[in-house]
Amino acid sequence: MKSVIILGSTGSIGENALKVIKALPDHFRVVALAAATNADRIVAQAVEFGVKRIALSDGAAACAARRQAENLGIEVLEGDVGVERIAGGGDAVVVCALVGLAGLRPVVAALEAGSDVALATKEVLVAAGKIVMRRAAQKGVNILPVDSEHSALFQCLQSKDIDLTCINRNRNRTAFTGVSPVKKLVLTASGGPFASDPDVDFERVSVSQALNHPRWKMGPKVTIDSATMMNKGFEIIEACWLFNLPVSQIDVVVHPESVVHSLVSFVDGSTLAQLSDPDMRLAIQYALSWPERFVSDVPLVDLIARGRLSFRAPDESRFPCLRLIRTAAAAGGTMPAVVNAADEVAVAAFLAGRISFASIWRLIEAVMSLDSWGRCDSLESVFETDMRARETAQRLVRKFEKK
Ligand code: MG
Repeated sequence: MKSVIILGSTGSIGENALKVIKALPDHFRVVALAAATNADRIVAQAVEFGVKRIALSDGAAACAARRQAENLGIEVLEGDVGVERIAGGGDAVVVCALVGLAGLRPVVAALEAGSDVALATKEVLVAAGKIVMRRAAQKGVNILPVDSEHSALFQCLQSKDIDLTCINRNRNRTAFTGVSPVKKLVLTASGGPFASDPDVDFERVSVSQALNHPRWKMGPKVTIDSATMMNKGFEIIEACWLFNLPVSQIDVVVHPESVVHSLVSFVDGSTLAQLSDPDMRLAIQYALSWPERFVSDVPLVDLIARGRLSFRAPDESRFPCLRLIRTAAAAGGTMPAVVNAADEVAVAAFLAGRISFASIWRLIEAVMSLDSWGRCDSLESVFETDMRARETAQRLVRKFEKK
């Protein structure tokens, strides 16, 4: 029986994680939950799963939850500190599905407590991959990918001949001594709602059009990131850190059907892929069950019913975010954190109707060119960069504002 702590339990990954746990009561139990603002839902979850300890980062939401939980014997912690205390509770796998950089301190708290982390919040690795991976290695814990593409790569990479930085060798397997047989990783991308339509005018795309993802139902931030393909850019950096490969060995291929979740090519010319219908429960369950596989009711992919699967190269002239992320990865240091911060501000401004869809990448590029960057060697340097890049981006929103 594994104990599980879920951070971001009221979002789509969190809800799916609870479905996985509910379906496998002999294998998993939830011991603590944390969320940002949704008091009603987290209290309902705590009651359903018999959880006695929850946290809300929003103070007013925590007060509301406390009123509801008063007579239920549920302890309600408050603020970012409360979420970190939940994360650092120890003796459990910590699922992190918080949105954005809000996941960073809780992930570090979980690692410090010696917990494995099932990571859905890719921004944590984008902004602070070096720090997080080093901390995990020092503590001898594993970082298990929840992102569907990285779960696919992880599943294809299960071999004693492959060194995975996200898995602690001393604890889980014999030391790797040879040369890596991995030639490259191929991330698949649905391409979002606009990849298949070359006539879309990115100056005039509406918020609801951009939120209308053809394959995955996700939160608004990641859905817009999918539409700009910045999500795929972030996933390139995420893959670099998880699997210890340079950006040059990570390719992206557009695959609108989202059945092949990613591929690994080896030096002998072989390529392995992982396939399933799009369903986040599979990636979440594998992160929790690894190295085992448990039964689930996710249906097998029906290749005959699917018929044709298609693949094509991403169009970097239409989706400049892929180019921007490769530039940021090459610059290294805190530059990916700059892109992450600028993207969060730009996406929020687009969702608020202040800037156009095309101004998302214009704004990010402008912030990249203005901000000076440095080494990324401490949490403080990451948060300092994040704050400075956000301020710069906020200032630039006014410049890019729709007339
Ligand atoms: Mg993904």
